[in-house]
Amino acid sequence: MLEKLFSITDVGIIRTVRILGMKFEFLNSIEFAKNVFRTIRSTTVLDYLPKLYIPVAEHCNDNCYGCWTFSTLAKEEFYDIKTFEQDINRLSELTSLTSEGGGGATPYTGEVTLAGGEPLLNPNIISFFELSRRAFPDPSVKIVLITNGLLLLKQKAPFFKAVLDNNITISPTKYPDMDWNKIEQYVESFGVTLQYSTDMGFQSGPVSNKNERVSGKMPLHLDGKCSLTPFDSYSRCGLSNGACSVMRNGKLYPCSIIAGIRHFNSHFNQNLPVSSHDYMDIYKVANCKEILEYMAKPHPFCKYCNVAGRVASFGEYRKTTHSISEWTT
Ligand code: SF4
Ligand code: SF4
Repeated sequence: MLEKLFSITDVGIIRTVRILGMKFEFLNSIEFAKNVFRTIRSTTVLDYLPKLYIPVAEHCNDNCYGCWTFSTLAKEEFYDIKTFEQDINRLSELTSLTSEGGGGATPYTGEVTLAGGEPLLNPNIISFFELSRRAFPDPSVKIVLITNGLLLLKQKAPFFKAVLDNNITISPTKYPDMDWNKIEQYVESFGVTLQYSTDMGFQSGPVSNKNERVSGKMPLHLDGKCSLTPFDSYSRCGLSNGACSVMRNGKLYPCSIIAGIRHFNSHFNQNLPVSSHDYMDIYKVANCKEILEYMAKPHPFCKYCNVAGRVASFGEYRKTTHSISEWTT
């Protein structure tokens, strides 16, 4: 009854108020301000890459709902260690270029994250630590191992020695139903302290009030006919502008969605295309400035992302059923 007399509806930046059958439309100033902020954040060319993720294993030993890296759909696949060595050294080289836009004395990235899938599935993980730190000896570059923690209790002394020797930060995402006290005590017996992803100011998904991971959804439009333009999707996207850039096999992808979509395509027999404008070849770019300018622009693939339809949190952690609906509108 009350709804018939008075209602407020928000669609985008327009707020519609209905009073006794009369309709008034206003600019929703909070939503408008958020849009302005998001657009500035996503299109400002940064002077460094905030995050660089390197999937050293594409697949995973966990089964999270709607995995953002599509690792629950991926077949077993590791980053080849020789290719990795070349690629990480190339990134280091780009850092040290002193030409305009080169990194010079300032590392171009604050953080290199060995990720997945689940990186601890990679049997060469110690070599990845060593090569990463050799390429980025500056201790101001944080080298992080992000993990679901399922294999931490299986790691032995040489693993933890390599963590300490190479100044690696182990950053688990706190998944529910795991004995984190036991895991903490075990790694601390080797002199290593965990830094949960939430403690580090980021996490690979929303969390509950116990700082445990909960599930959300990042749907795709299969036909690419998003109601938003690529620019609108991009400017609203929290993964844009270097927040989630991914390096794999000589290529730098703007986000984990573009980097991992091949697993989705292959598993569900789809063809969401990744064009040559959706990534950079790290052997063709001249300097960091080119990378940073590229990251601050929308990408053709953004038209497949239903950013407006994203669900930040279901309020609970869910397992996948491998249904395509977990990734689609
Ligand atoms: S969200 Fe992380 S832990 Fe979960 S399936 Fe994906 S890669 Fe694995
Ligand atoms: S492709 Fe999607 S996730 Fe990636 S930057 Fe564009 S809108 Fe964001």
